[in-house]
Amino acid sequence: MELPVTGKPHKQLAEEMEALTSLDVDWRSGKIWSFVYFAGDDVAQVLKDAYTTFFYTNGLSPMAFRSLKKFESEVVAMTANLLGCSEAVGNMTSGGTESILMAVKAARDWARAERPQITAPEMILPVTAHPAHDKAGHYLGVKPVHIPVRDDLRADVDAAQAAMTDSTILVVGSAPCYPCGVIDPIPELAALAKDKGICCHVDACLGGFLLPFLRRLEYPVPPFDFSVPGVTSISADLHKFGFSVRGTSTILYRDRNLRRYQFFSQADWPGGLYGSPTMTGSRPGAAIAASWALLNYLGEEGYMRLARIIMDTAQALIDGINAIPGLQIRGKPDMSVLSFDSDDLNIYALAEAMEARGWNLELLQRPPSLHLVVTPAHKEAVEPFLADLGEAAEEVSSKKPAPTGTAAMYGVLSTLPDRTTVHSAILDFIEGLTRPDQS
Ligand SMILES: *Cc1c(COP(=O)(O)O)cnc(C)c1O
Repeated sequence: MELPVTGKPHKQLAEEMEALTSLDVDWRSGKIWSFVYFAGDDVAQVLKDAYTTFFYTNGLSPMAFRSLKKFESEVVAMTANLLGCSEAVGNMTSGGTESILMAVKAARDWARAERPQITAPEMILPVTAHPAHDKAGHYLGVKPVHIPVRDDLRADVDAAQAAMTDSTILVVGSAPCYPCGVIDPIPELAALAKDKGICCHVDACLGGFLLPFLRRLEYPVPPFDFSVPGVTSISADLHKFGFSVRGTSTILYRDRNLRRYQFFSQADWPGGLYGSPTMTGSRPGAAIAASWALLNYLGEEGYMRLARIIMDTAQALIDGINAIPGLQIRGKPDMSVLSFDSDDLNIYALAEAMEARGWNLELLQRPPSLHLVVTPAHKEAVEPFLADLGEAAEEVSSKKPAPTGTAAMYGVLSTLPDRTTVHSAILDFIEGLTRPDQS
């Protein structure tokens, strides 16, 4: 595949690409249960308009683009208020992973300055914490120390306490965790960190823009934000339940001194004095502008209206799934992220039976289970989904098909004792993703 010598007319290209969207999953009608957080055509239009207007702007220089400076600082300030501390400071980033990388970097560089005796820093991670933390540890030289979860699938605080050493610099909890949607015992985890005078990061990438509205709607929401003593940083994704465009998240700190450890500066470059708050250099100003537009378009009322739809939909799914013989929801999800498993059905075979019916479910491991992130796009999908799930469960229960294809491979790899082979299989897979198809 080479760069074409002659360019194609815009219209022809646009048609060609429009046709290629048929290769993609149907996210609009709720057939997919991850990746896309669609909150309706009106929201999409607000995002598109703001994005287009600020299309060429670069968030690298808020001084050249004063509009972006206003947008970013106001988005951060609004988020800080939602998360229980109007004084909190922070930045917008490209996503949850970058926000988490920044929290781990701030903790690491804080420890380098304030705990110089620590030479091999460690962080405590519940096994359900997002791999972005492991990635951050891998990039930044902070060793992840994994702790188990309790029977209720929340982080085991006793295990966290037992895992603390003189080298621990950071304790992490999720609000909620991705695999099963439960919130870790944040007050207890934060208290451990506070006692030791170290950092505590709450990963609210999923819950940061939903839990505050659930609280206003009087759902029981366990404490998770800056109102909890000892919490030093929080990540909250705009591109998940904030419903903004892909490439938008926030990272917040209670204390501005801790945030300074997130920054980078180079004073001697011939290209000029260089400073950068986050991982990225150039940043799409359009994504920042679109997020500001959306927060102002929806407001508290708009987010509460969406939150109600999401929770009603999630409850209908929880009840419906639990009512299907052989299936059960794992734990007690605190919002609208759920997983279910089965004592007697092959859950990966069930996923394939659902795929044959047009539904895309994420496969989880340890234990084998299936995953749903419930968004407003799923409201109309509940009935057909549950009908198909009931039918698929019956089929798997009576015919006992063995999973084939991806699901079969997933089943083998997730239980293979030799994890080195599994790591290698993952790398092979990633490698294949950027090889153009021969056809
Ligand atoms: C999605 C997610 C992340 C990572 O966010 P990205 O935007 O995919 O980088 C981190 N933590 C949790 C709990 C998540 O659900």
